[in-house]
Amino acid sequence: MSKSKSSESVKVVVRCRPMNEKEWAAKFERVVSVDVKLGQIIVRNPREASASELPKVFTFDSVYDWNSKQIDLYDETFRPLVDSVLLGFNGTIFAYGQTGTGKTYTMEGVRNDPERRGVIPNSFEHIFTHISRSQNQQYLVRASYLEIYQEEIRDLLSKDQSRRLELRERPDTGVYVKDLSSFVTKSVREIEHVMNVGNQNRSVGATNMNEHSSRSHAIFVITVECSELGVDGENHIRVGKLNLVDLAGSERQAKTGAQGERLKEATKINLSLSALGNVISALVDGRSSHIPYRDSKLTRLLQDSLGGNARTVMVANIGPASYNVEETLTTLRYSNRAKNIKNKPHINEDPKDALLREFQEEIARLKAQLQKRSGKKKRRRQRKRVGEGSDSEDLEEGETEDDDDDGDDKGDYWREQQEKLERERKAIMEDHSLVAEEKVRLLKEKEKKMEDLKKEREAGEMLAAKVKAMESKLLVGGKNIVDHTNEQQRMLEQKRQEITEQKRREREMQQQVESRDEETLELKETYSSLQQEVDIKTKKLKKLFAKLQAVKAEIHDIQEAHINNRQELEQTQNELTRDLKLKHLIIENFIPLEEKNKIVNRAYFDEEDEYWKMKPITRIEDDQQMMTRPLSAVGYRRPLSHHARISMMMRPDMRYKAENIMMLDMDMPARTTKEYQEPVIAPKVAAALEDALRDEDEIQVDASSFHSNLGPIPPAGTSGSLKKPKSGRPRTGKKSSTPTSPFSPSSPGSPLYPQSRGLVPK
Ligand code: ADP
Ligand code: MG
Repeated sequence: MSKSKSSESVKVVVRCRPMNEKEWAAKFERVVSVDVKLGQIIVRNPREASASELPKVFTFDSVYDWNSKQIDLYDETFRPLVDSVLLGFNGTIFAYGQTGTGKTYTMEGVRNDPERRGVIPNSFEHIFTHISRSQNQQYLVRASYLEIYQEEIRDLLSKDQSRRLELRERPDTGVYVKDLSSFVTKSVREIEHVMNVGNQNRSVGATNMNEHSSRSHAIFVITVECSELGVDGENHIRVGKLNLVDLAGSERQAKTGAQGERLKEATKINLSLSALGNVISALVDGRSSHIPYRDSKLTRLLQDSLGGNARTVMVANIGPASYNVEETLTTLRYSNRAKNIKNKPHINEDPKDALLREFQEEIARLKAQLQKRSGKKKRRRQRKRVGEGSDSEDLEEGETEDDDDDGDDKGDYWREQQEKLERERKAIMEDHSLVAEEKVRLLKEKEKKMEDLKKEREAGEMLAAKVKAMESKLLVGGKNIVDHTNEQQRMLEQKRQEITEQKRREREMQQQVESRDEETLELKETYSSLQQEVDIKTKKLKKLFAKLQAVKAEIHDIQEAHINNRQELEQTQNELTRDLKLKHLIIENFIPLEEKNKIVNRAYFDEEDEYWKMKPITRIEDDQQMMTRPLSAVGYRRPLSHHARISMMMRPDMRYKAENIMMLDMDMPARTTKEYQEPVIAPKVAAALEDALRDEDEIQVDASSFHSNLGPIPPAGTSGSLKKPKSGRPRTGKKSSTPTSPFSPSSPGSPLYPQSRGLVPK
């Protein structure tokens, strides 16, 4: 394969959709006419006042009117691109245009209708048919599906739909989406399933699918890797990547009257599209050395498709009705510029990250492992044969030895082994000469052997299955190459291709003739008379004047569009400035200057992620930095506080000598008991109780009479009855300060009776 490094332009085709029923019903005028032969789109101005205005004409690589079939577009425009992807080029198809003009119709089309299938399903068919017809080639096809919404990337095939992915860049392979899932697909059905899952996920979380899809970019990526034996006897891998991009609606968001949050969202959505426009402008300009790819996720991701290593087709979709004329013209101008982008596609041969290579190596490794296993088996069997020469299986083993790799043989071998073990087990069971213990031991041994055998067998089977699964992912063609119908189909396709090629050439020629006509008009003319010369020259003047007017009108339009754009940008800028002022106000009034400075010192802008980030806290000499905790000072085992350092010097004891320990009071255990608290009884209640409980005879021995004759010693017999408490009486528990014993230690010999036992109210 030659690695052509020559540049080629982005191919731009325009497709105009039919008027829809609503438009017919509202009696809108059709202002777009399509000259398929010349590849021209002619747009009339619908306004009455400018009826005299000349129609605007745009020329493209090819144009498709409302009668165009999906398959026409595919055969003429997309098939060559997908073919080159199968050869190892990168390819990209963009669908650009206002919402409702047929972007999704062109890319996906109508599901379950083979006639109206779009590029994506048609390319599935194309790719897998190509593989089935290939010879001596190995293919690996995988698919990814992602969406960019408000400058966030969502993997449409991932289980976790809330996750947002990041773009990363590697010097060897360029920009890629980190952690984007990709599925290896083996057939049209499988890759269709992948697409359906992605489409389902796309609508999940979108409250209004139409609106969501018109505001997000969807990118379906098919990677085709092909391995083929080169002339040098080595396997070479070519990798082609096909990006199928359904862009967000290109309509101006301001027109939809969005404000506030919605406007911000709108500017974010349009960011990718306007960045795309800026990239195109910068590329076409030729003077600008800086191409602003980094301005948006879309342009970064598709950097190669715009002025890089890819073949690119842009489909500009337009609507035919008069009320869309502004947007139609904008779309046509936009895509007209894109025609001038030069790409430098080349075949991607033996890239480092080819998955096919990894697969091949893995299969080889697994096969070697399997081989080793069967080798082990073989040796074991041979050993066995020598050891148990008289064994009955001897013959069979001898037979199977030669074709060891045979699948049937493997099965036989396992069965054989199992039967043998079973037989041995039985023999042990029936052998009465063995001691019971010995028998059990032998039996166990045999069982273990059987278990091992089973395990080994399973492992072998698993390995074989793995090899098979991996091999099945690698697709090889040439199986039904002799198929007659296949051959015919191929012929048919070739013929169709030739026809489309012819058509293209015809169109080109026609375009050339048209332009040459004007140039050579003058040369051909020979004037027979002065009058004739005047006439002819006047005619020509008129023609040129008309052309001049058209160009002037175009300039005027472009200027107007430019002014509109600027106004929109100014409006956005004003909104952002207002926002910024509010944030300033908050910061100035509510965040201490010191804190603000700290944050400012730590913050830095991450170009990769396009986010402000905070540097980790480190020790930097300038005082504004926040510090980490002090590290152990030199000579000390641990960080020391100032207090500890002073104490260490001032105090004689060992505390603080080596460690930073704070002096704390002893931490006493919490008390689990309580002081006894007597129940509180009101004096009145107590008195009443006292009255009620007083003994009859006690009343007689009153305290007053007791007081009066304190001197004489009462007889020992009476004293007992005096102070004896009633047994059933509840005790108040009041601790008496006076000793209960009548013989006080302070006055030995003279028994002192209490004045009150706490029961008599004072
Ligand atoms: P977009 O994706 O640009 O917003 P759609 O692809 O959803 O637009 O198209 C809007 C409608 O127009 C759909 O109902 C679609 O079937 C119809 N449509 C678009 N292009 C064509 C076409 N070339 N032929 C027939 N119907 C079309
Ligand atoms: Mg759409």
